[in-house]
Amino acid sequence: MNSVLKLARPDILTLQPYSHAAWLPELERLHANEMPWRAGGDDSEAGLNRYPEPQPPELIERLAQMYGVDADQVLAGRGSDEAIDVLVRAFCRAGQDSVIICPPTFGMYKVAAKIQGAGVVEVPLLKAKGFALDEAGILAAWHPAIKIVFLCSPNNPTGNLLDAAAIERLCVTLRDKALIVVDEAYIEFASAPGFAPLLEKHSNLAVLRTLSKAYALAGARCGVLLAHPEIISLLQRIIPPYALPSLTVEAVLRLTGPTARTEAADHIRVLLAERQGLVAGLERSTLIRRVWPSDANYLLVECTDADQVIAAVKSVKLIVRDQRAQPTLPGCLRISVGTPEQNQRLLAAIAAAGARQ
Ligand SMILES: *Cc1c(COP(=O)(O)O)cnc(C)c1O
Repeated sequence: MNSVLKLARPDILTLQPYSHAAWLPELERLHANEMPWRAGGDDSEAGLNRYPEPQPPELIERLAQMYGVDADQVLAGRGSDEAIDVLVRAFCRAGQDSVIICPPTFGMYKVAAKIQGAGVVEVPLLKAKGFALDEAGILAAWHPAIKIVFLCSPNNPTGNLLDAAAIERLCVTLRDKALIVVDEAYIEFASAPGFAPLLEKHSNLAVLRTLSKAYALAGARCGVLLAHPEIISLLQRIIPPYALPSLTVEAVLRLTGPTARTEAADHIRVLLAERQGLVAGLERSTLIRRVWPSDANYLLVECTDADQVIAAVKSVKLIVRDQRAQPTLPGCLRISVGTPEQNQRLLAAIAAAGARQ
């Protein structure tokens, strides 16, 4: 047994999962209390009168191929948000176990932990070192009730990649002690490869990937957890059996084929050039004190007057994300890279507001 499974909740390890209606497409379904007719106008492939196939093999195979892993290393869910949720539920006993997070970072890790009743131990990224991982801090914070360490690389909202060597060392040092989850929602925009190829080497590593960002499918709700097959089997027991709607499965299969992937790669190239232009434009503004380097499709900026920047972009019908509630990010906003036209409009509005000062 993968020793990291010993970290899972004992009641989940022995849980008798819901036994869904058998998937036997060669037989006509009188075993799931579905209507035998489609709803009028239902032009889906599968028929929405039918429950979807749980973890459909064709979809899992496609995702495995996209991410360069084996099918038994893939769990698909409604966005990586659902994967974060099932991870916390499988590994953390309410009122007893905890996760480590490294703020400022993506908010869902903390929310998922709190919903489960798990504790949250914060080991902040080192702002003075460009929001680098505090490897020693994580090791010092670890105790036997810590089950998961959530790392986000590139990190949202700071945009930087975390040091890959430090992450690997954490995998080794915390081998039987914690699951190391690396959230790579933005890795397609980054200048470094992801961690999926290292799954073979580290049994306590799990990688989150999503179709929501680089593949332009946020509305489809599809994300994956890549991990050791035994971790995947465990999580399959607790993810809802019909997690993925038929329409999502059909859309993902249709929109991640070779043409779609070429198009995504083209859009990423344009976006990266735009990111560079946006950095240059923002650095010229007197309202912007600092633009943090980004390996993602957004920029973290520190403003001299964030309210003025927010008002300026709003006046040209744009909205950016306020990060000032994060203790280490005073005056900071997160700006997603848009189309060339949107970026020009944003820069023009900020330049005009700066000139009026
Ligand atoms: C956007 C984002 C996700 C993606 O969530 P989905 O549920 O897959 O849409 C995951 N992690 C981070 C850090 C994100 O910013």
